[in-house]
Amino acid sequence: MKQFVVIGLGRFGLSLAETLYDLGHDVLGIDIDEEIVQNVADSITHAVKADATDENALRALGVRNFDVAVVSIGNDIQASILVTLILKEMGIKYVVAKAQNELHGKVLYKIGADRIVFPERDMGIRVAHNLTLSNILDYIELSPEYSIIEISAISSWFNKSLSQLNMRRKYGLNVIAIKRDGDVIISPNGDDVILKGDVLAVVGQKHDIENMEKHL
Ligand code: ADP
Repeated sequence: MKQFVVIGLGRFGLSLAETLYDLGHDVLGIDIDEEIVQNVADSITHAVKADATDENALRALGVRNFDVAVVSIGNDIQASILVTLILKEMGIKYVVAKAQNELHGKVLYKIGADRIVFPERDMGIRVAHNLTLSNILDYIELSPEYSIIEISAISSWFNKSLSQLNMRRKYGLNVIAIKRDGDVIISPNGDDVILKGDVLAVVGQKHDIENMEKHL
């Protein structure tokens, strides 16, 4: 069990905080808006009204003892930057910050945020991949260059081994796992055979993934 502090309980922060709590973690939620704090009081460990740009208020709440802090203030970019900076200066090891746009993300990164999320942009990309091809079940961006897709096996792959499919040569992609009937084959080798109903996790450069998608 980990201890999380989520600052800013808007749509993203709230859904993140409630999910972490449902997963069994300790979650302190902080928001400047009294009504928001009251509404969330029963669905996370602890909810407090405070202005997170006030360093003393954060100290009084013992925020520095938390494992992970998430800054999910989006619209007030100045507050988001200030709070991220305060948290890193307090010595919190892992700070995740939500960015409104690329420039905001860059600033957050420069002041020491450990991970930046762009919820709307990332979800837009995922849904687009999912909508264009019914085989693509999920799309996760690892870095600006690399992604992972989860894809259900197409019929022309059935009963062929990974060596026969030769995705590495054909597309520059690596199959890192095969999901089958609730089990997962991790790091499959060339002899592993794809069966009907399999789901493959494939990692590679984005343009290589897009190239494969076009050929499906
Ligand atoms: P979303 O798009 O996820 O709803 P918003 O930026 O609209 O994100 O919401 C951010 C939340 O952060 C709001 O509930 C707002 O009250 C809260 N917030 C804004 N500034 C501060 C601050 N200085 N301290 C604490 N909470 C804040």
